Amino acid sequence: MEIFDSAELLDRDAITEIQLKRLKTTLARTRKCDFYKKRLADAGIGENSISSPDALENIPFTTKDDLRSQYPKGLLCVNQNEIVRMHCSSGTTGSPVAICHTQNDINSWADLMARCMYMVGVRKEDVFQNMSGYGLFTGGLGIHFGAERIGCMTIPAGAGNSRRQIKLAKDFGTTVAHILPSYALILGEHIRNMGEDPADYPLKIALVGAEPYTEEFRKRLETLFNMKVYNSYGLSEMNGPGVGFECLQQNGLHIWEDAYIPEIIDPVSGKHVDDGEIGELVMTSLCREGMPILRYRTRDLTRFIPGDCECGRKHRRMDRILGRADDMFIVKGVNIYPMQIEQVIMTFPEVGQNYHILLENDGLGDVMRVQVEIRDEYFVEDMRILHNLQKTIAQRLRDEILVTPKVDLVENNSLPRTEGKAVRVTDSRQKK
Ligand code: AMP
Ligand code: ZN
Repeated sequence: MEIFDSAELLDRDAITEIQLKRLKTTLARTRKCDFYKKRLADAGIGENSISSPDALENIPFTTKDDLRSQYPKGLLCVNQNEIVRMHCSSGTTGSPVAICHTQNDINSWADLMARCMYMVGVRKEDVFQNMSGYGLFTGGLGIHFGAERIGCMTIPAGAGNSRRQIKLAKDFGTTVAHILPSYALILGEHIRNMGEDPADYPLKIALVGAEPYTEEFRKRLETLFNMKVYNSYGLSEMNGPGVGFECLQQNGLHIWEDAYIPEIIDPVSGKHVDDGEIGELVMTSLCREGMPILRYRTRDLTRFIPGDCECGRKHRRMDRILGRADDMFIVKGVNIYPMQIEQVIMTFPEVGQNYHILLENDGLGDVMRVQVEIRDEYFVEDMRILHNLQKTIAQRLRDEILVTPKVDLVENNSLPRTEGKAVRVTDSRQKK
């Protein structure tokens, strides 16, 4: 196995040892800001209360609201003149969350990101095109610095503008791309519309993350471009990308446990769930100087994958993100996640790139409407053929979610697109 740095090969004992050492340093750092100083004192956590990473459970959670309440600099644990960069999380509602980084923070983030990319075969000889938004969003500069650390020729293309993306990819022979899942299929379609086959492009690896997608979606993307797609997970509160990444096995994302302590909890009780059970991911940063964060409730739902990975790395794996605790919606008393819908509809070859879920109330009760784009070659005027497809999709959805949705088959490219993360659900039901 070719590795980027030796920390990839730590065994479980070594990981625990590093975690304990770094957790102690982190706790000492957090006491430099009033917020954590008080939190830890209130919880009775003293300088020497942590003798094993398990003792972490006694530390109170940090929530998004905590981070918002401390905006902009309440959580700074160093003098401001030590800060070299800040980023914000991509939420569009509420006050922002800002994370400030020292030079050491930026360096260790770049190392982690490079570790992820190297793990899936990205090398110095590669041409890397970052199709992610730059600016405050961490998917831009965060991944950029990792690619430069490996030594790739790095193209900071930014988000959107398919014509320019395609020209850059052709002119410079892009072999690796970082791209949002919702945008990747759109780009593929754009190439097809130009009369070309995306599979003929030299692209061989795509780092795809920032929003949830299913295995069915990955397979489509891999076939479309004839490339490998690796899931990349991160969140601004924990730097951004580089937190969890799939290895060549494509069977779960390794979380770099020398830099983070991941936990999975029952979102209601706050207690750890058993290995393999789904719950909310909670993360503690272990290397951050500027703004260390303890037990952050990500709201992301996943599970630890039990057992060792065939690649040999001992850093624990989490499953692909199944959704966010906030994404769940309830129709006729049933809890539903958008990914359950995607998982079903993406198995139909007739279905195009985009779908949207509308929740309405027709006066009698909840109505769930799933709008599904149909690829040009299948979108025929013969309503009878479409009607059969419509019925089959509705039935398969019912089998999965136990509610029968109304299914609208719409023309390709007719649903609204967003430049950033995809918005999959519109809830226009009257709030009680
Ligand atoms: P940001 O606000 O840009 O820091 O976004 C972080 C959030 O994006 C995470 O908490 C997840 O909800 C989502 N996210 C990031 N990577 C992935 C991924 N690979 N799969 C699913 N969701 C992701
Ligand atoms: Zn692995």
